[in-house]
Amino acid sequence: MTDLRQYIRDVPDFPKPGILFRDIMPLLASPQAMAQAIYAMAQGVPPGGIDQVVAIESRGFLFGVGIAQQLERGLVLLRKPGKLPGDIRRHQYALEYGNDSLEVQADAMRPGSRVLLVDDVLATGGTLAAAAQLVQDCGAEPVASTVLIELEALRGRERLDGMALHSVLRY
Ligand code: AMP
Repeated sequence: MTDLRQYIRDVPDFPKPGILFRDIMPLLASPQAMAQAIYAMAQGVPPGGIDQVVAIESRGFLFGVGIAQQLERGLVLLRKPGKLPGDIRRHQYALEYGNDSLEVQADAMRPGSRVLLVDDVLATGGTLAAAAQLVQDCGAEPVASTVLIELEALRGRERLDGMALHSVLRY
């Protein structure tokens, strides 16, 4: 087992002064470390199991594909505005640095489906909370979430309204 921390590069003051950016590019450059990260993130499945994996643009996609394959479940993408055709549901949220919105195709999730949410980093929790809200708007159930990195000082976990959170690396 490799210590995955050695594949996370800390970049001070990016993209704004005061933000310590956790850069996952070294992890992506290592097939072994990526495989280990995806395996570890897939352990976030709750005891009752899940029906669908929902990944958040854009770095959530990098892990969502592998997790969905490992769990043998279908993948749904939550995207930034204007990327998806058809009937769309939208939710706006605050980032650690700025504001953003997420969209999903209204028919992408099955009613009552148990969903595992995937992202790379949990910071303030605004993104995951918005993703969970979108999943609920579509009639599905956000039962758990999994991230590679949890920035504990920002206390994002507290914004998840009781949704289970699995994190592989905590800073
Ligand atoms: P938040 O909504 O504050 O939990 O922010 C989570 C989202 O912003 C994730 O999709 C991350 O990709 C990105 N993010 C926020 N803070 C950082 C950080 N310090 N390093 C890397 N990515 C971050």
